[in-house]
Amino acid sequence: MSEVLINKVAFVTGGGSGIGEASAKALADAGASVAVADVDMVGADRVVEEILASGGIAKSYKLDVSDDAAVGTVIAAISKDFGGLHIAVNNAGIGGELAATGDQTPAGWRRVLSVNLDGVFYCMRHEIAEMKKSGNGSIINMASILGAVGFANSSGYVAAKHGVIGLTQTAAIEYASDGIRVNAVGPGFINTPLLAVLPADALVGIAALHPMNRLGTSEEVAALVLFLALPEASFITGGYYPVDGGYLAR
Ligand code: NAP
Repeated sequence: MSEVLINKVAFVTGGGSGIGEASAKALADAGASVAVADVDMVGADRVVEEILASGGIAKSYKLDVSDDAAVGTVIAAISKDFGGLHIAVNNAGIGGELAATGDQTPAGWRRVLSVNLDGVFYCMRHEIAEMKKSGNGSIINMASILGAVGFANSSGYVAAKHGVIGLTQTAAIEYASDGIRVNAVGPGFINTPLLAVLPADALVGIAALHPMNRLGTSEEVAALVLFLALPEASFITGGYYPVDGGYLAR
């Protein structure tokens, strides 16, 4: 464990699985106290136990990011429990309905937008209020390569991720003078439970869309998340950073 983020408080949504889990562990390894928030408390509690067992500091919080009031309550509790908020990884997300645009249902569209875009906005508005009190902050929003290009049968997901990048850029401009940096990360296809709905042969085809001809790992995304949280990233704000095995370079 390093001490570079000692006395920093980090909040990770969707921290009980996949990219959020790896990000929570990377931040804890760097010395941050980590609030692991998830709808899935089995996953969040497991991640917290593993962080504690490796000598880190962490606590789990039950949270549905699509509920603005609940987000406000949890962020207030984190600030009370740990004495502030300095790093936020707005990562919770769902895959959404798989259907061509004309066949997407309004309910499916609303559901994916409510978690993947509304949820990021709700988190940001409460995080910004806390970070202003702390006098500094780094917000890292989990977008996707699908925040930059289209993908068939995923229009709600793609629209939400494009929205996350616009939201990131706008808040970065607004809060730079408050010492709050806001960036977005764009993973390619990453081997997490989110992809478990896809058949194995589809995953082989998806891997081949990346010039590296493989899926990424959660740890490869978490390494970028960690960097954006570090003091070394002090001049980096308003950016969108792919971590995608070359997917967007094609
Ligand atoms: P994951 O393994 O499914 O983890 C996501 C976690 O978020 C799960 O624990 C999930 O709980 C939780 N969650 C779902 N809805 C939530 C809500 N409303 N409030 C709070 N927590 C909620 O997925 P992942 O692959 O790590 O994805 C994390 C983020 O990366 C997402 O934003 C995703 O869009 C993005 N991303 C993933 C990939 C990829 O290929 N995996 C690529 C690009 C971007 P449940 O399991 O109970 O739903």
